[in-house]
Amino acid sequence: MEKKTQSSQRLVLFPCPYQGHINPMLQLGTFLHSKGFSITVVHTHFNSPNPSNHPEFTFFPIPDDLTADEISSGKIMAILLALNANCKASFEQTLTEVMEKEPQNKITCIIHDDIMYFSEAVARHLNIPSIMLRTTSVTNFLARSAVLQLHSEDHLPFPDSLSLNPVPQFHPLRFKDLPTSNLDTFENYSKLAVNAGNVRTASAIIWNTVDCLEQSSLAQIQQQCQVPIFSIGPLHKIAPAASSSLLEEDTSCIAWLEKQSHKSVIYVSLGSVASIGEKELSEMAWGLANSNQPFLWVIRPGSICGLDWNETLPQGFIEAVGERGCIVKWAPQREVLAHGAVGGFWSHCGWNSTLESLSEGVPMICTPSFGDQKVHARYISQVWRVGVQLENKLERGEIERAVRTLMVDDDGEGMRVANHLGLPSIILSTSSAANMLTYQEIPRLLKDGYIP
Ligand code: UDP
Repeated sequence: MEKKTQSSQRLVLFPCPYQGHINPMLQLGTFLHSKGFSITVVHTHFNSPNPSNHPEFTFFPIPDDLTADEISSGKIMAILLALNANCKASFEQTLTEVMEKEPQNKITCIIHDDIMYFSEAVARHLNIPSIMLRTTSVTNFLARSAVLQLHSEDHLPFPDSLSLNPVPQFHPLRFKDLPTSNLDTFENYSKLAVNAGNVRTASAIIWNTVDCLEQSSLAQIQQQCQVPIFSIGPLHKIAPAASSSLLEEDTSCIAWLEKQSHKSVIYVSLGSVASIGEKELSEMAWGLANSNQPFLWVIRPGSICGLDWNETLPQGFIEAVGERGCIVKWAPQREVLAHGAVGGFWSHCGWNSTLESLSEGVPMICTPSFGDQKVHARYISQVWRVGVQLENKLERGEIERAVRTLMVDDDGEGMRVANHLGLPSIILSTSSAANMLTYQEIPRLLKDGYIP
């Protein structure tokens, strides 16, 4: 449904339909809206964002032609490749209709997720400038190129004996930290990585990252890239937007947090895609129970392979933890991490979760599952030194020790202090000072017609 707007400069956003991509794209939209642009979000029916959370935007759903079988397969790369093939015509048709209906409300630019690379071709065909948004870390982007290179040289898949060996030129990444994925075939992985990695006609790249975290990776990418790169993260701080959650947030956990002591709670969430088995669920449960720390645990529906929601929490667990544990299906994560009662985050290390935790000075326990999560876990524990990684199979004794290291021991306090004195203040000061230049620059460049 189209909304009347006073603004004459319209930006069209095309997010990739997964939570970790929708959030930064809509945060960017919120920021640009606050600078006077009108924002139109074109999106797939699959994982459609809720327009009522963003009444200031205009939303256009387009058919994506995904079959129920494709969606339930969980093969994310195949789904993303299908979306790139299926959405081109309907996106172009939607844009043409929008332009015909409101010729005075010119489309200044299309901003698309790098994974939705078909948007760039549509923009070029309609003669509209386009900009790419990249929603993972620069370091992960570089490591993904290393994966493609190693594969082309027949070094991947690597034998177990190499798993702890350093990847040449990629200190401190080991082979096991490379951003590979077991969610789909390597063929699909590489097709997607190559297409999303190429800048064809985009005028610029907006990157949700922070200079002080990724200085050397940014310097490297800037050398390789022909177009300007704006590192403007963390987007959730620049535009503390309304929620863009696909699942309903259970805000009752905030009332529970209110009753807990300062920095006593470990918050546990493995994000919007990662899943675990029944055995891992049981080890997590007993590790948390035995740690004796209060915990807030997100168990996302569908995240336990083959089971309904927490139907198989081990017998006796709920009774053992009583009021000390709070379990929800989906949490208002940014609010949770900013709450004074939260003292640690056990995370899968998705890029948004990593930035959200770093921004609040919350140290992390890292259990990456696939892709970029493995790179971030290594950086959190070895480079930024604000977390510990659980390296082995999930096991209750190790979990209990990690929780206590983070929440009780001096080590954890050290990380929290380092985090408080170091990273978050750097992140926040770069957001409010140095990065101001870059992120304030974008609307100016768009308005003044610098792009393209
Ligand atoms: N998130 C949330 N509530 C939850 C769990 C996650 O709002 O209970 C949000 C979180 O704040 C983050 C996003 O979902 O912005 C997850 O993105 P991330 O890149 O961390 O991981 P992904 O889900 O893409 O693996």
